[in-house]
Amino acid sequence: MRVPGASGSVAVRPPARAGTASRREPLANAEIFDVTVIGSGPGGYVAAIRAAQLGLKAAVVERDPAGTGGTCLQRGCIPTKALLHTADLLEDMQRAKEFGIRAEGVELDFEMAMTRKDRIVKRLSKGIESYLFKKNKITLLKGQGRLEGPKAVIVEGEAGETKVQTKNVVLATGSRPRGLPGIAPDGKVILTSDEILEIKEIPESLIVIGAGAEPDHLDAVVGRALDHDARAGEQEGRGLEPLFHPKDHARLIR
Ligand SMILES: Cc1cc2nc3c(=O)[nH]c(=O)nc-3n(C[C@H](O)[C@H](O)[C@H](O)COP(=O)(O)OP(=O)(O)OC[C@H]3O[C@@H](n4cnc5c(N)ncnc54)[C@H](O)[C@@H]3O)c2cc1C
Repeated sequence: MRVPGASGSVAVRPPARAGTASRREPLANAEIFDVTVIGSGPGGYVAAIRAAQLGLKAAVVERDPAGTGGTCLQRGCIPTKALLHTADLLEDMQRAKEFGIRAEGVELDFEMAMTRKDRIVKRLSKGIESYLFKKNKITLLKGQGRLEGPKAVIVEGEAGETKVQTKNVVLATGSRPRGLPGIAPDGKVILTSDEILEIKEIPESLIVIGAGAEPDHLDAVVGRALDHDARAGEQEGRGLEPLFHPKDHARLIR
């Protein structure tokens, strides 16, 4: 446990006695924040940084054990773009001859691509905590946040509950993937965008439900990694389009 200072990350204070995990302890130095932001995604961490730049004493509450950055950094924009880059390179290298480059036996090392993706995510998340928050003197409180009236946030961390006094609260709690009726994600056959970013092997086939940037990216990554499937797709003239377009999607969920 670390005692909160002007900045840095704070594990919430443990309860005074063993077995009293639900007891709410105020922060050790009775700090009162000008603004407490719940959620450290792009909405939350940018709001906290701006508040700090304007001279306010800011705290951010984040419950994700993976770290800060929210959906975008942990399981959205950043990991998909890291994998998309791999898919782009693979596609280019497979057409190397066309560009006047001799490259034999080009193939995907999926495990390495996933390791690179994880490394990028970790580095950027750490950058928010150890550089951006520190530089702007923002306190990071790790745990699940909930409101207790307009001027207090309870943070439930590993060691118990802590009461954070605050003049203002910003809710930046983002969103989570949602299942569709009758096709609840099981993490094995039916995956959400969270789970597909953690797969160990490339699936033999993939149906993407939904169209738009997110499913399009996932389809492009897996579709292109599936070398033979991607080529078959091109031969059929369907290229690498999502398999379901908005109107099919609407029909599917109706
Ligand atoms: C696969 C995928 C690809 C994407 N690609 C792009 C892209 O290329 N470009 C783009 O602009 N957008 C993209 N997005 C969308 C982007 O990720 C979101 O728009 C963005 O993350 C929203 O930011 P946010 O701060 O509102 O919420 P989030 O990023 O969801 O962050 C909310 C945070 O709040 C935390 N939280 C929630 N409740 C609590 C609580 N009670 N206590 C403590 N913490 C809590 C969560 O753990 C989370 O860290 C993508 C999304 C996905 C899923």
